[in-house]
Amino acid sequence: MLKKLWFLLTAWCLCFQAVANYSDEECCQAQLKAADEIRSSDSLDFGQKLKAISEQSTSLNDNEADYFKYLQAYEFIFKGDFQEALKIFEELSHAAVNSDIKFRSMLSLINAYAIQRRWNEGLLVLNNVLSLLPSIGNQDIKGQSLMVASIFYNQLGQHELGLEYSDRLKQGHIDPRSICFAEQLKFEAVLQLKRSPEELDETYNKGMRQCEIAGEKVLQAIIIKLYAEYLLETLLKPQDAKALLDEHEALVLSAKYAPIIAIYQSLIAKANWQVGDKEAAFDIASSLSINPASMATLEAQIRAQQVLYDYYLDKGDTAKALEAYIKYAEAEKANLDEVKTKTLAFQMAQHQSLEQQNRIALLDEQNKFLTVQQQLDKAEAFNNRLFIVVLLCIALGLGTWGWHSWKNQQRLRQLAEYDGLTGLFSRGHFTQVALSAVDYAKALKAPISCILLDIDKFKCINDTFGHATGDWALRAVAQMCRELCREHEIIGRIGGEEICFLLPECHQDNASQLAQSLRQGLTQLDTSASGHKFDLSGSFGVSCSTISGYKLDKLMQHADNAMYQSKHAGRNRVQVYHSELKVSV
Ligand code: GH3
Ligand code: MG
Ligand code: MG
Repeated sequence: MLKKLWFLLTAWCLCFQAVANYSDEECCQAQLKAADEIRSSDSLDFGQKLKAISEQSTSLNDNEADYFKYLQAYEFIFKGDFQEALKIFEELSHAAVNSDIKFRSMLSLINAYAIQRRWNEGLLVLNNVLSLLPSIGNQDIKGQSLMVASIFYNQLGQHELGLEYSDRLKQGHIDPRSICFAEQLKFEAVLQLKRSPEELDETYNKGMRQCEIAGEKVLQAIIIKLYAEYLLETLLKPQDAKALLDEHEALVLSAKYAPIIAIYQSLIAKANWQVGDKEAAFDIASSLSINPASMATLEAQIRAQQVLYDYYLDKGDTAKALEAYIKYAEAEKANLDEVKTKTLAFQMAQHQSLEQQNRIALLDEQNKFLTVQQQLDKAEAFNNRLFIVVLLCIALGLGTWGWHSWKNQQRLRQLAEYDGLTGLFSRGHFTQVALSAVDYAKALKAPISCILLDIDKFKCINDTFGHATGDWALRAVAQMCRELCREHEIIGRIGGEEICFLLPECHQDNASQLAQSLRQGLTQLDTSASGHKFDLSGSFGVSCSTISGYKLDKLMQHADNAMYQSKHAGRNRVQVYHSELKVSV
């Protein structure tokens, strides 16, 4: 369970091949790459190389400056200044010019957050990295991401996930260093998942072999540490643990990394105690309890204080035993708090991730809904437009139909009411209008007169000049009549060449005068426009309501009688009807 330092070490060991896509012309690229490559295998040399580069830092270009900063952050980690490292990674993960450095900084940020016990923030960045993973082309960066995921999940106690990502790392990467990391991470997960001893042995051997090939001493030391811890604390086999630790002492020390050495020593102390070599256990534990590097390492501290407590108790020095116990309890509490924090962070991150997925699903639903809504709106707008167009078409159709129908009616009315040749009222319409006029005059007791005109010898005109000339003459006579009459006077063609006038509010004398004017007008008509020169005249008969009464047929009959009188009297004259008028037909 004591994995804080274990994690720190793994994070520190995240030292991959140098970023490959820089040109050789750049001043310090080769040096930066060289420093990067030995970052985990030789921390001393790494520091020196970095120092050499910093001396010429003014000549670094933007890419190199980012790369240099990135490596500097690792130097801060080695010195234990995680705050400073975190600041640099945060800055680079947002603002690095080179996208690979940017991504690597995100990965380092995850580790740095883990070191700072900021699990929740670490998980959020990790989720971000994993979601971007399919779009990452650089295989090294991809490998680093899988590795960070595996480390992080192992740290959180999510070993199934740790195992899954270590397997994915192995599948996609064949370089020794990646395989070493993958095997080491797998071993850790397998241990925690309490798999079979055979699987455990096989994974251990593979891990040690692969990390030896890759020259990764720190990772080998970690594998040893993990196995020894398991033998000691889970299987309770201190002899086996001690044998393992003794066998690899030189290897662990050559890793030159203080925290792993402190943990290693705490394990030896405990193993010694358990096998009964109490003094050796005490010596190592007491030197650990005053060593600043091991003091900072919770895991080493817990074990060292445990051994000291047991030792002092055994010696009967209760005061010192109590002191050791208090230190042990404090370190253990800090460790338990950390474990609780990790579990909580994982649950929170899972919850947040679920919430985010739900939000995305909700947004997706909303989006679909909006799309459907838009389609419906479009359809509705289209339907509205269609409806308006249909309405306009109907209105236009109705309008056109109405207009045509009105025109037809007008035409039919015209045909029915007016004489086609002369434009005067037809006989039927004349009779209708005249009846009303007579009734009206009767009601008003106003005089109403009637004139009947029959053109003289009209047949001769037809016979002499042709029917067309006869038509022309009829039109000319009708026109002349209209001109001489007032607007309210009713004029109708009631026979072939017979025209009748009904004159409301007109006394017999006035009617007679009008008939004289018409007669004169007729005789004065210039017929040359017809193409022929001929004389026209007409015979007129006049009747009035004062004698004939308010009956149209009587008025017309009396006018007709008078007109025949004119014919008999020699034509081209006006005859007013009176009661003694004798008509001989
Ligand atoms: P009068 O009345 O003086 O006794 O002699 P008339 O020749 O006018 O007498 P009648 O009534 O016998 O002849 C009328 C003629 O009018 C007969 C017919 O050919 C002619 N007429 C009737 N309607 C039309 C018409 O629409 N166009 C033409 N060109 N002639 C018509
Ligand atoms: Mg006639
Ligand atoms: Mg006539």
